[in-house]
Amino acid sequence: MVKQNIKQLIIGTNNRGKLKEIRDLLPKYIKIFSTLDFKLKSPKENGKTFEQNSLIKSKYFSKKTGLICLADDSGLEIDVLKKKPGIYSARWGGKKGDFKKAIKKVYIELNKKKVNWKKDKIRARFVCALSLSNLNKKIVCVIGKVEGTISSKPKGLNGFGYDPIFIPLKKNKTFAEMKPSKKYKLDHRYKAFKKIKKFL
Ligand code: IMP
Repeated sequence: MVKQNIKQLIIGTNNRGKLKEIRDLLPKYIKIFSTLDFKLKSPKENGKTFEQNSLIKSKYFSKKTGLICLADDSGLEIDVLKKKPGIYSARWGGKKGDFKKAIKKVYIELNKKKVNWKKDKIRARFVCALSLSNLNKKIVCVIGKVEGTISSKPKGLNGFGYDPIFIPLKKNKTFAEMKPSKKYKLDHRYKAFKKIKKFL
């Protein structure tokens, strides 16, 4: 795989939280488009892994626009829930993508699993598969992960998704309690981005 010398690309997500985060990571000389500029809906994510779903998105948006596409598929894996919500992380928020609803579901599932779960360390991780595609052709797909635990209650107002319930290892604040600039440097997307940077 060789460096693509990319001058412009589309970020393949309709999630504003991710769009902002990925936009902030990219070098300023790259002209960035978003799916909102083309009024494109997301494709059906019927893959079985984060990698497959990431590639479905990057290929789809690249074919629709003719631009090289950088897309991610990401989510939260909770070990005692057999790695759920995993690739279903967005879907746990329902059709409207209601993150409060998704967080409530995490607590319902943990309570079902173990009454005293708050006394334990509930191991979890955020996973991000970041891919670059040119039309129907994969350029590269990488994985980034950040390990942590689930907070006994939601804390903090920053970020999006499951940020209020995720405490990265060796920290005592949830992602939503951290400044966005601090969260970005610790998270799964940043780790994946560091691996994919050399192909841009
Ligand atoms: P998708 O990759 O668009 O299918 O959705 C991934 C889902 O995982 C998001 O809608 C969030 O609920 C969750 N997620 C992914 N990355 C993060 C993150 O950095 N913070 C919080 N939640 C995240």
